[in-house]
Amino acid sequence: MTHLDCLYEVHDPCADGTGQPSVYLTFDDGPHPFCTPEVLDVLAQYRVPATFFVIGTYAAEQPKLIQRMIAEGHKVANHTMTHPDLTKCGPGEIQHELLEANRAIKIACPLASLQYMRAPYGSWTQEVLSASASAGLAAVHWSVDPRDWSCPGVDAIVDTVLASIRPGAIVLLHDGCPPSEAKPSGDSSLRYQTIMALSRIIPVVRDRGFAIRSLPQHH
Ligand SMILES: [Zn+2]
Repeated sequence: MTHLDCLYEVHDPCADGTGQPSVYLTFDDGPHPFCTPEVLDVLAQYRVPATFFVIGTYAAEQPKLIQRMIAEGHKVANHTMTHPDLTKCGPGEIQHELLEANRAIKIACPLASLQYMRAPYGSWTQEVLSASASAGLAAVHWSVDPRDWSCPGVDAIVDTVLASIRPGAIVLLHDGCPPSEAKPSGDSSLRYQTIMALSRIIPVVRDRGFAIRSLPQHH
């Protein structure tokens, strides 16, 4: 991966006026009919806002979950329509993936304000960044990756996140899985480890003096 002009951390994480440093939880590859509601339940329990990078085809299938994210104060962002590796797509295809996902999210929830996108697999090229900019979306990578998608164990997810957070950190987690990896019948235990880890991570992060926020307004 080349380090192109995308966001790895929020550069002014105390900008809210309270002087409290912030960390940012982000969830990719949803909405998932079983896992996303459980993630939303944990976030609601702790009153923590997050940012969901959703796949357009899933947003079209699960509009109520997109509406719930927005109603509960989360941000919804673009993770393409079908989750291809954009480095293998032509410019027209990249643009189509982004615009179709924007459209699907807006249809699911017209109140969604789309400001951010994340490339599947974090695979960035100049073409991807240009297409993002043309679609009015800021490109967001991450700074903390506990590889929760690989189910390394709840302790491993918790330990990696807690060892790596610092002001402005963007944490990558998953509330679903890409269409290429999804089981036809669905899998309710798919993100069990992520959900268990989340409920342990939030209180510790707060105890360390951080505020947990959704990604700030992009200008
Ligand atoms: Zn993804």
